Formats: sequence, C-alpha cells, structure tokens
Amino acid sequence: MPQDKCIWCGGIYQNYTEVKGVCPTCANEVKEKFKEESILTEAHKLVNGDRQAEYGDPIANWTETAEIATAITGRILSPADCCLVLIATKMARLRHQYKRDSAVDLVGYVEIYSRIMESR
Ligand SMILES: [Zn+2]
Repeated sequence: MPQDKCIWCGGIYQNYTEVKGVCPTCANEVKEKFKEESILTEAHKLVNGDRQAEYGDPIANWTETAEIATAITGRILSPADCCLVLIATKMARLRHQYKRDSAVDLVGYVEIYSRIMESR
C-alpha cells in the first residue's frame, strides 16, 4: 500500500487523497484554513480576470478615463491621478465602514496604480 508523508504534520499516512499531500487527520484543518480567500488573491483575480475581459486593458482604460476627466474638469489629469482618486474613494468608504469588497477594490486599484507608474 502506498505511503505518503503529510505536508501539514509530517505524519505518514496511507491511501488517502481527499486533500492532496495531507493526511486524513489534517484534511479538515487545511480545508478550513484555505476556505477564506485572501483579499490579495481576490484582487488579483479581479484585476487579471473577468474585469479585464469585460473592460479591456486596464492601462488603456485608465488613459481614456484620464482624457474624459481632463475634459470634464478642465485640468490635466493623468491616469495615475484618476487611479489615486479612486483609491481615495475606497479609503473614504473603508473609513466609514469596513466592507471586504471595498478592501479588495482598494488593493486592486493600488495594483493598477503601480502598473500605470511602472509602465511610464
Ligand atoms: Zn497530517
């Protein structure tokens, strides 16, 4: 019978595959631990997944946003400026009340801000 070493507790176990690499004793603990997705993971999916398919390349999108914002305000606003405004909006919301979605969006905007700055 094949034996494996549990990556969680280091114990030897046999013939069990519910959670790959983990013994039956540790399986529930591991499942609980990873059930909650980190906001970083969630933001990563948002920035790189569905929204990108829906709204197109984030940098192109923010460039267009900046053009519109510049036209509306009569002040020259860069894509980075616009992104910072959205970051401020999320921060203001979080200051009022913590909501996970706001925290995820904030992290996502920070990622986009960093991409805009590093693409210059
Ligand atoms: Zn174990």
